Amino acid sequence: MSASGGSAVEANTPALPENLCARCARHHETCCQKTDIYVTLQDVRRIEQHVGFSGFEEFRQPFDPVYTFQEDDPLWMEKVFQADGSRRVVRHKENGDCVFLGSAGCTLPTEVRPLICRLYPFDYNAEGLKPVPASGCPSHLLAPGQSVFEGVGVNPDDARRWHGMLYKELQQEP
Ligand code: SF4
Ligand code: SF4
Repeated sequence: MSASGGSAVEANTPALPENLCARCARHHETCCQKTDIYVTLQDVRRIEQHVGFSGFEEFRQPFDPVYTFQEDDPLWMEKVFQADGSRRVVRHKENGDCVFLGSAGCTLPTEVRPLICRLYPFDYNAEGLKPVPASGCPSHLLAPGQSVFEGVGVNPDDARRWHGMLYKELQQEP
């Protein structure tokens, strides 16, 4: 296609609404700040291979007690929590940001990020993805008629694949 043809198409194509995460980051703290990010052992290995160092994770009790009640997901409760109630999570910087948060967002490629980051804002249990998103995204910043999933731009096929990986990796946890 010629350059002028491309311009004509662009001129007639309505501008897509800005990604919800970009709007979220401009208005307030995002899910990459002051949030507990659980990592599977496989997450840790993938990230270590990519970044070339280790020690970015620790065992910590959840800051938010909501994480300790997942009654519709016994596998999650059994595999994620240690006997003392702690979980393997990504460390925070001093300001509370995830250690992998950079000035332009996550510094990890999508297929290296912790699986729960890739899946957010999908809500789920061992049975599969739920139709209603998790409640943490700013729905008041959505474009008219836009769903949270559309706003964030997560692909449902990818989400189903990552959900399968997550629960397979959970079953491999000690
Ligand atoms: S996933 Fe939701 S909470 Fe996280 S940055 Fe995007 S809009 Fe904000
Ligand atoms: S790993 Fe990336 S996506 Fe997940 S909380 Fe940290 S910065 Fe955000």
